[in-house]
Amino acid sequence: MRHLFPHQAEALARLLAKAREGSRRIVVQLPTGAGKTRLAAEIILRALAKGNRVMFVVPSLSLIDQTVESFASDGIHDVGVIQADHPLTDPSKPVQVASVQSLIRRDWPDVQVVLVDECHVQFHSFLESLKAEEMRDVVVVGLSATPWSPGLGKHYTDLIVCATTKDMIAAGRLSPFRVFAPAHPDLTGVKTVGGDFQKGQLEKAMNKATLVGDIVSTWLRMGEGRPTLAFGVDRAHARHIQAQFEAVGEPCGYVDAYTTADERKVVRDKFHNGEYRIVSNVSCLTTGTDWDVRCIIDARPTKSEILITQIYGRGLRTAPGKEDLIILDHADNHKRHGFITDIHHDTLDDGRPKVSQKRKPPLPKECPKCTFLRPPKVKECPNCGFVPEGIPEGVESEDGDLCEVVRGTGTKATGPLGHVQIGGVWIHNADFYGMLRRYGKERRYKEGWASRKYKDTVGSWPNRYYDVPDRTVSWEVKCWLKADLIRRAKRFEKDRKQQGGVAHGGQ
Ligand SMILES: [Zn+2]
Repeated sequence: MRHLFPHQAEALARLLAKAREGSRRIVVQLPTGAGKTRLAAEIILRALAKGNRVMFVVPSLSLIDQTVESFASDGIHDVGVIQADHPLTDPSKPVQVASVQSLIRRDWPDVQVVLVDECHVQFHSFLESLKAEEMRDVVVVGLSATPWSPGLGKHYTDLIVCATTKDMIAAGRLSPFRVFAPAHPDLTGVKTVGGDFQKGQLEKAMNKATLVGDIVSTWLRMGEGRPTLAFGVDRAHARHIQAQFEAVGEPCGYVDAYTTADERKVVRDKFHNGEYRIVSNVSCLTTGTDWDVRCIIDARPTKSEILITQIYGRGLRTAPGKEDLIILDHADNHKRHGFITDIHHDTLDDGRPKVSQKRKPPLPKECPKCTFLRPPKVKECPNCGFVPEGIPEGVESEDGDLCEVVRGTGTKATGPLGHVQIGGVWIHNADFYGMLRRYGKERRYKEGWASRKYKDTVGSWPNRYYDVPDRTVSWEVKCWLKADLIRRAKRFEKDRKQQGGVAHGGQ
């Protein structure tokens, strides 16, 4: 059995605990790069070990075969497929893979656990079937990187956030990114339908020669010639973007939902061998998920947090030699949503109007000189060093409590990348972890203490540092850990007193 990362192990433990408590509809949120299929395989293996039968449901027929393949690589071979004329059809197998479509007008297999992949894509008939009496005790686990669809909370009761995009970037499992906002399209008059811009009107607003021309000139100036994926509103718009690139002698590929698997493969190969530095596309479920994308041109204004997370997620894979992702936001999506690392919800949307509209984190601000989007409260442009003049002190800090903070230290995260500030000193995360491990061993703390302490402080698990050697614990770290102990002892003492007081008062 392959190793689970700590964030996966924790999600699994929380899931099992929820199920033991009697919860039967649970969503597990894992961002791209968090190892969703690995965790799914582990859930299945656990279920099988208990003698349960499992059904794994994917949102599209085209995903069935790759799911069966990935299960095989995780040691799950006893798999049947529910799909007309599929060679692997065998209802007796303990694991059944089905697409939502293939379950319509079919009797469901007798299973005790159902895993729903991409559960934010809600299919009415499927969700209705889950309400059937015989499904009441079946454990249904939804998996999604973006479980934010309206009303998802009507069908699932619990949300387990396994890790966030921010965690994954901090852990080095996803690429960091830089954003520029070179254009601000005029969308006055574009209506909102079903929560997002009306597509026809949006296409009219975005598919203008000047806007598309600006996309090309901006990329030539700022794209660094990187392998780039461009997102248009619809096919006409994406085709126009392609044509404009070709007009300046820059070969540009094209993919949309109608592109066949074979054609898609040709485009992918040309993209990876450098024949195309750009591929223009209309966002669809599968384009570019396994491509080495290092720049994204976003020309698709959207109000959907799910869509925007999917679009930028295409560029967050890590790759040898890749330092970061450049996002050229021509759609003002950052003005709507902030950075994707800011998009977060603690609970599922149950479709009811929000009781307390939670304050949104402050939005990033654009450098007037180079259009780089800097985090709120950062005055000097990290890209070009420009400092806007005439901003009175304090204007940008009205949301003071929401500034980026490294948890556990109370220090702004504006220090060197991959470092944590302890006692006023910036320590590389690897060294910090090495010190925690040494400290824990010296005191015979439980295994896992160092990882846990690291996560509480840095905000993510030390996944990439498990192999680093132990380090001599620095004076600052020693003091900080001691102070932490004292703090906790005091809190314990206070709690004890309070409890004692209550007991006393009750006599
Ligand atoms: Zn700048």
